[in-house]
Amino acid sequence: MKAGVVSVQGAVPEHLSILNAAFEKLGVSGKAVTVRREKDLESVHCLVIPGGESTTISRLLVRFGLFDRIVRMGREGVPIMGTCAGCILLAEEGDPEVERTDTRLLRLIKMQVNRNAFGRQRESFEARLRVKGLDEPFPAVFIRAPVITRVWGGCEPMAFWDDMAVMAKQDNLIALAFHPELARDPRIHEMLIKMV
Ligand code: GLN
Repeated sequence: MKAGVVSVQGAVPEHLSILNAAFEKLGVSGKAVTVRREKDLESVHCLVIPGGESTTISRLLVRFGLFDRIVRMGREGVPIMGTCAGCILLAEEGDPEVERTDTRLLRLIKMQVNRNAFGRQRESFEARLRVKGLDEPFPAVFIRAPVITRVWGGCEPMAFWDDMAVMAKQDNLIALAFHPELARDPRIHEMLIKMV
């Protein structure tokens, strides 16, 4: 099995190594690969859209011909996980900053995000989160993180920080405001692989 990591900008190597750790822990023969061109998407069974800068990633997805193909894959049921900037891109609705920066969203998940929800006071922090489906709390690292301000339709919140939704799932799609690849804990990446 192949797990792709969109590698146009942002936190790529950590996702590759934790995906490989997740394959090993699950006893699944699989490999994490980088995705830069449309043809790279043909062979992957699931996909990670990493953190980084959402406006930049969005523009590069369009430029490299990945944008429309990812939308199609998401609609066709391929498991896709977006973390931080990737979470913003999966959303159907953004906030005034997304509008102002003309950031094109993939609009796959029925949720609205607030792009830089924590402002300067809380640029980055760590919190142990209770995540639906995990027995033990997950050590979540937040870096200039968004929050999920509204969900509707089939989108379900999976974790909260201080009453704010920071993880959501809709069928084959998972969005996380935090960086699970920085946790040395492969449980969330295992969730993605198990969905294949
Ligand atoms: N705040 C960033 C953005 O708006 C996301 C931060 C991150 O991915 N670590 O794109």
